[in-house]
Amino acid sequence: MSGVACERLRELGAELALGVLPARERAEAVAHLDRCPECREYVEQLTAAGDGLLGLLPEAEPPVGFESRVVAALAPAPAPRRRRGRRRLR
Ligand SMILES: [Zn+2]
Repeated sequence: MSGVACERLRELGAELALGVLPARERAEAVAHLDRCPECREYVEQLTAAGDGLLGLLPEAEPPVGFESRVVAALAPAPAPRRRRGRRRLR
C-alpha cells in the first residue's frame, strides 16, 4: 500500500485546503487524512483560513474527470474548482 507520506501531505495541504489540488492527488491526500489524525488536524487548521475541505472529506471521490464533466455540463463558463458553501442556482 503506497499512500501519501505525512511529509508530502504537508506539501499538498495548502493546495488541498484551497481546493486547487488535481483530483488524483486530492484523492491520495484525502485517503491519507482518513487514516492520519495528525495530518487531518494540520489541514483543518489550514482550512480555518481557507474553506471547502470540511465539506469534501466525507465524500467518496468521484472518478477522475467526473467533476470537470459535470462542471462543463452545468456551467457555460469555466468555474473555479473551489467549493464555497452552498449557493442556490435557479
Ligand atoms: Zn500523516
